[in-house]
Amino acid sequence: ASLFSAIEMAPRDPILGITEAFNADQNPAKINLGVGVYYDDNGKVPLLACVRKAEAILIEQAAPRTYLPIEGLAAYDKAVQELVFGADSAVIQERRAVTVQAIGGTGALKIGADFLQRFAPGAQVYISDPSWENHRALFENAGFVVNNYTYYDAVTHGVNFDGMLASLNAMPAGSIVVLHACCHNPTGADLSVAQWDQIISVVTSRGLVPFLDMAYQGFANGIAEDGAVVRRFADAGGPLLVSNSFSKSFSLYGERVGALSVVAASADEAARLLSQLKRVVRTNYSNPPVHGGKVVATVLATPELRQLWEEELAGMRVRIREMRNAFVEKLKAKAPGHDFEFVRQQIGMFSYSGLTKEQVASLREQSIYAVDTGRICVAALNSRNIDIVIDAIAKVL
Ligand code: PMP
Repeated sequence: ASLFSAIEMAPRDPILGITEAFNADQNPAKINLGVGVYYDDNGKVPLLACVRKAEAILIEQAAPRTYLPIEGLAAYDKAVQELVFGADSAVIQERRAVTVQAIGGTGALKIGADFLQRFAPGAQVYISDPSWENHRALFENAGFVVNNYTYYDAVTHGVNFDGMLASLNAMPAGSIVVLHACCHNPTGADLSVAQWDQIISVVTSRGLVPFLDMAYQGFANGIAEDGAVVRRFADAGGPLLVSNSFSKSFSLYGERVGALSVVAASADEAARLLSQLKRVVRTNYSNPPVHGGKVVATVLATPELRQLWEEELAGMRVRIREMRNAFVEKLKAKAPGHDFEFVRQQIGMFSYSGLTKEQVASLREQSIYAVDTGRICVAALNSRNIDIVIDAIAKVL
C-alpha cells in the first residue's frame, strides 16, 4: 500500500454540491437560489463601474508586480481601518488598531484563528446556531473546541435573544465569541441596535473576546450604519478582532480581498500584536496578492470613485430589499394561507425561508435549487425569475 492508498473521500461541500447539481440540470429555465453571491437583475454577477475605473487607472500606471509587505498594501490597510472603525475613531487616533490585508474574509478569519490559538490556546470558541458553514471547520482546524450559542428562533424566524443572552452568560471568561456584524448568514436575522448594546455589555462585563465577522458591510442599512456595531464594540474597550471582506460589497469574489483588524489596549501593545500577526501571515503564504487590494484602496481613496461605489452598493442593497418585498407580496397573493411577512424583516443576501427539507426537494424537481435548511439567496431573485419561483413555492407549500 502506498502513502495515499487508504485516504478516504472527504465529505462534499453542501453548498457547492447544490451548484454541481444545478450545473448538471438540462432544464434551461433552472434557477439557483443556493448560491452565496449577489446577482443583478439580469442574473449576472456585476462588475462594478468603480472597479472598472480603478482598474483603468492601475493599467495606466503599469506598476511592476513586486511583493507587498507581509501585512499588505499600506494604503489598503489604512483605508480598511477607516471604513471599519471610522476615520475619527479613538482606536485609530490612539494607534490601537492594527489591520492586515487578508485573502478574503476567510483568510482574515484564519489569520485571527491562528493568532488566537497561539496566545489563547485553551479558550473555547462559540459560533451562532446556525452559522456560516465554514466557521466551525475553520476554528476547529486552528485547534479550537467550537461550541454553538443560541441564535435563531425557527418559530419567530428571528433571533432568540433571551436564549442568546443566556448562552453568553454561561460562557467561561476568555471565551472567543464569533458574531456576525450584520446580514447574518445563513438566517438573515439580525439584532436590533438596542439588542447589540446589551450584547456588548454582557461580552465586556464577562470578559469574553468578541470576533466580529463582517462579510456584508453596506448590504443591511448602509456602510456607516452597518459598521456602527464595530465602533460600539471598539468604544467598549477590551480586546476585539474584526474580519471584513470586499467579496460582496465590491463584487470582487475571486480577487480575494479582505482584512483582519485587531484592537489593542495601547499603541505599544498594538505594535507587538502586529508583529505576531505578520508571523502568522509569513508562515502561511508570506504576503497577500496585489491586484484586489490596489483596486479597493484606489476606489476608497479617490472621491469620485468612492462616491460611485457607495451608489453602486446602495443599488445592490435596494434591489435585494425590493426582491424581499416582491417575494412577500406575491406569495401573499399565490398562497393566501401562509405568512411570509418575516422575509421582509430579515436582511442581507439570505433568508431562512422556513421551507422544509422535503419542500426544498420538491422545488428541485421543478429545477429550483435551494439549500436543504431552507436558506435562499434573495440576491439571486430578479424581475424575470421571481414569478417562476413564487409559483413553484406555492405548489410545494
Ligand atoms: N463570513 C461570512 C459570514 C460569509 O458569509 C462569508 C462568505 N460568504 C465569509 C465570511 C467569507 O468571505 P470571503 O468569500 O471573502 O472569503
